Amino acid sequence: MRGLDHERLCLAAQAVGLAEAALAATVDWARTRPAYGGVLWDKQAVRHRVADLVGRLAAGKTLLYHAAAQLDRGTDGRVYAALLKAQLPELANEIAYTAVQFHGGAGFVREGPVERISRDVRFLAIGGGATEVMRDEVARLI
Ligand SMILES: Cc1cc2nc3c(=O)[nH]c(=O)nc-3n(C[C@H](O)[C@H](O)[C@H](O)COP(=O)(O)OP(=O)(O)OC[C@H]3O[C@@H](n4cnc5c(N)ncnc54)[C@H](O)[C@@H]3O)c2cc1C
Repeated sequence: MRGLDHERLCLAAQAVGLAEAALAATVDWARTRPAYGGVLWDKQAVRHRVADLVGRLAAGKTLLYHAAAQLDRGTDGRVYAALLKAQLPELANEIAYTAVQFHGGAGFVREGPVERISRDVRFLAIGGGATEVMRDEVARLI
């Protein structure tokens, strides 16, 4: 059972890595993609959406490091492990969805980075305990 906490944090960390890559690709893309007389990044709706996601991801990543440090110290980390496994893959899926959306048609093609991320990230909300099961685990433990 202690191994499960480690696995859940590792899967949450994978979600952070994929989400960061998706956001980085989206910022690069939006800064150069021509749109309505400028580039996509000129659109406040795009910038604000990305800024919000960067902030939410940074907060989740900080809690993830805290939970990993607790686990290293041998503290009971079951709540954080389940909570982060419930939250970060869902956030990463939201970010991957947004990354594809802001890439437009280019988000679908296999040559680009976000198409692969959008497929890989889907597994993280299912494997190692689906989001709903993790929420039940959090509710049981708090
Ligand atoms: C790419 C991939 C790799 C995998 N690798 C491994 C591996 O290496 N080792 C391993 O052991 N397993 C592995 N799995 C299996 C994975 O752990 C299971 O798919 C996962 O635990 C979900 O179980 P299930 O597929 O039986 O879905 P089910 O248990 O049938 O659940 C289906 C869906 O129903 C919902 N659900 C389930 N239970 C509840 C509930 N209590 N309350 C509300 N909703 C619920 C969730 O949305 C869930 O996604 C892998 C799966 C995939 C897709």
